Amino acid sequence: MDLLLPTRSDLWFLPLGGTGEIGMNLNLYGHDGQWLMVDCGLSFNEPIDENSARTHELVCADPEFIAQQRHRLAGIVITHAHEDHVGALPFLWRRFQVPVYTTPFTAEILRRKLAQVGLLGEVEIHELPLASRFKVGVFDLQWITLTHSIPEPSGLMIETSAGNVFHTGDWKIDHSPVLGERFSPAILTTLRKRDVKAMVCDSTNALRVGHSVSEFDCYKALLEVIKDESGRVVVGCFSSNIARLASLARVAKETGRYLALLGRSLQNMVSAARASGYWPDDLPVVDPSHLGYLPPNEVLAVATGSQGEPRAMLNRLARDDCFDLSLDKGDLVLFSAMIIPGNELAIERLVKSFKAQGVRTLQKHETELPIHVSGHPCQDELAAMYDWVRPQVAIPTHGEPEHMAANARIAKDAHVPRQLTGLNGDLFTIAPEVGVRKQATKAKRIALAR
Ligand SMILES: [Zn+2]
Ligand SMILES: [Zn+2]
Repeated sequence: MDLLLPTRSDLWFLPLGGTGEIGMNLNLYGHDGQWLMVDCGLSFNEPIDENSARTHELVCADPEFIAQQRHRLAGIVITHAHEDHVGALPFLWRRFQVPVYTTPFTAEILRRKLAQVGLLGEVEIHELPLASRFKVGVFDLQWITLTHSIPEPSGLMIETSAGNVFHTGDWKIDHSPVLGERFSPAILTTLRKRDVKAMVCDSTNALRVGHSVSEFDCYKALLEVIKDESGRVVVGCFSSNIARLASLARVAKETGRYLALLGRSLQNMVSAARASGYWPDDLPVVDPSHLGYLPPNEVLAVATGSQGEPRAMLNRLARDDCFDLSLDKGDLVLFSAMIIPGNELAIERLVKSFKAQGVRTLQKHETELPIHVSGHPCQDELAAMYDWVRPQVAIPTHGEPEHMAANARIAKDAHVPRQLTGLNGDLFTIAPEVGVRKQATKAKRIALAR
């Protein structure tokens, strides 16, 4: 098996998942005989055939490399609560058995996940406030709070005696994010003075020109569409986008509607947001059982299943198999979500079955209004980030090869002296020498039983 042991003069980055794909992030940093894990996420396997939705087989990065030397693993840091960053931890933690470090909202989500697999109480969770500094083994760390599509997106400044790395996690520049602090470049320009050797950076939208759209503009777009509706409105949306849900609750309030959540994951997320102080007190949510008694123009429901998942609530509504709500001709189903590649046919089938009943649908590509906005940086944002932080080396991650290549080009244009691109299993050496050792360990994906 691999004998990769970082010395005191080494600073290494070794991604086991998430570099070469979007999903299942599992990153390792190595220094002075120790490893630090940053994120432990999952992904879904590709569809088995073109007529099916995703199989929903859960997969994650094979953790064997680090599991077999867990005495060298100093701890696990989770940057935010998206499934591609935290989702595999409840399944894999027994193989590591080390403390987990994260922020309060992510800790709340993690505790709920751990409870489902009987691990709550066994995992030592260190809940650290935003912007705080903390130490995990030989690594000195600090949260760098950014903006994204979930509360508390936390970049990580990693300082060692061999050099410093800024690991961005997922981010965008949002000056009006609806919930949480707005984006502030001030902290990033201070990183410049802290000699950032490498910046390991989100590449998801590196092929898109310009700047991502703010969550507040999405709120205005949703209000614009919904205010003129006279029937029921159902919105398909990702449950983790608490800001979007709060926007919809505000739209409900301003249009004389009642907001209800259809689907357990939505209810769980809003309850977690309440528990950690993110849900605004002035935005009520009614029990879905009330929906049937309301006049159509007072109904605003948010439902799971925007990717066409067969058992989720949108598909059940399309089959008129939702206990709390039936739709009629003229009602509107709006998709406030991206299409995850591979789900196009399942979504198309869902849309067709609504239309067959005379229920209208509105998808993002059918309107000029930003009824969904992405949580990742486009080209101008990446360029700005490189200019603020001014790292010596750019290491694009969180993307497919073409996204990472585009991110590297942006770094080059932004005068970052070196760019390193590679794939899961490659060892990126940041100090003492800068380089990539191809396939230093074997990276593969494993299925997770649930
Ligand atoms: Zn992500
Ligand atoms: Zn994310």
